[in-house]
Amino acid sequence: MLAYLAFAAVAAAADVAGAAIVTRAHKHGHARLRYFVAGGAGFMLAAAFVRMLPESTHVPHAFLFVLLGYFGGLAVFGLGVHTVFDGVAIAAGFMVSASLGAVLFLAVMLHKLPEGFTIASIMLAGGHSRGAALAAGTGLGVLTLAGALATSLIAQHHIAYALALSAGVTIYVAASDLIPEVNREDDAPGLAYTVFAGLLFFVAVDWAFSELLGH
Ligand SMILES: [Zn+2]
Repeated sequence: MLAYLAFAAVAAAADVAGAAIVTRAHKHGHARLRYFVAGGAGFMLAAAFVRMLPESTHVPHAFLFVLLGYFGGLAVFGLGVHTVFDGVAIAAGFMVSASLGAVLFLAVMLHKLPEGFTIASIMLAGGHSRGAALAAGTGLGVLTLAGALATSLIAQHHIAYALALSAGVTIYVAASDLIPEVNREDDAPGLAYTVFAGLLFFVAVDWAFSELLGH
């Protein structure tokens, strides 16, 4: 349990780091982050369809929970819901197997910097101080940790439901939040290919983790 809380803590720190990039106004960082967004979207979609869904379909009504997760991403506090489920995905993944936990940790990490960046940008655009923007990034990190902690309280035989919910949230975030960002960037044609590179990266990483850690 301590192991995946440590992984969730690292993911939480990336939220804060993403927010810090914005508050220090590194414009070059912004351009590079777009490639993280695109690659992360491909990786997350692959993780959801290739690993999370198959691992959760053995419980009744699994796909109802996938849909509920998807709609959760739509909610008013969408970014907050999604961030809680970053922690849920990491913890649930490690409760199923080390290789699934490792691959979901990477799926979360690949979009954490842009996530902290986004919340801090929203805060600054709303006229809030840099301190408030950094605090908002920290808040997302705390929600991620809370998600991992809450998941550790779920009985092992119910963990597939947590995985189904976080698969739905992951599909929403990748397909409905991140991919439109990629499509919007007409000045960076390589971005679409970066999505596909994210998919290939997932296949390589998933294979390597399965070999190293077992299924
Ligand atoms: Zn996230």
